[in-house]
Amino acid sequence: MSGQLLVRSGPDREPRSSHLRVRLLLEPEGGGEASALDFVDQRTFGHLSVQDLVPTPDGAPGGLGTELAAVPEPVAHIARDLLDPALRRDDVVAAIRRRRTGVKRALLDQTVVSGVGNIYADEALWRARLHYARATDTLRRPEAHRLLDAAAEVMGEALVQGGTSFDALYVNVNGQSGYFSRSLAVYGQEGEPCPRCGTAVRRDEFMNRSSYTCPRCQPRPRNGRW
Ligand SMILES: [Zn+2]
Repeated sequence: MSGQLLVRSGPDREPRSSHLRVRLLLEPEGGGEASALDFVDQRTFGHLSVQDLVPTPDGAPGGLGTELAAVPEPVAHIARDLLDPALRRDDVVAAIRRRRTGVKRALLDQTVVSGVGNIYADEALWRARLHYARATDTLRRPEAHRLLDAAAEVMGEALVQGGTSFDALYVNVNGQSGYFSRSLAVYGQEGEPCPRCGTAVRRDEFMNRSSYTCPRCQPRPRNGRW
């Protein structure tokens, strides 16, 4: 939940954290200096394990940087990441529209599409002008595409800025915090003006967390699924 994978090389390789749990030494093929991949975990909620690989359900490569069409068995049921080049966008749209749930629940469902968390879901819904409780079975195909486009866009922008860090534990492999939190339109902005229309942003309880919307840009649906 809050651990980090940190890459260290050169003089930077000395262990610095008392929370270092596992260190893997990565030696380049054909020689050269090894880098360390450190698994640092302050709250000890995380774990590392060695798992068998199984074929990917769609036959496409298991991840970036490999042609191997295989993934670790425990994650084989998880859908492809929204930014995965092998993701079939039409299949995701069809899967969303087949559900009988609210659109944000579908977006957060890792068996539909993975990688979209609570923050980016709220930002994507705001960009696509959709309320989180909109019933997925009433969603038109272009609306679902618009939402996925918005989510990919917001995640792409967040990656460029190093992600969204709310505390010092959320860092990239170089140990740096992201600053996308400064670019958030609605998430965490309760009472602040919507950047598009100026209406005060609203916060609702949602799945033990929060959903942030602009009441004007994202009106509540009449037959929503909460
Ligand atoms: Zn607005």
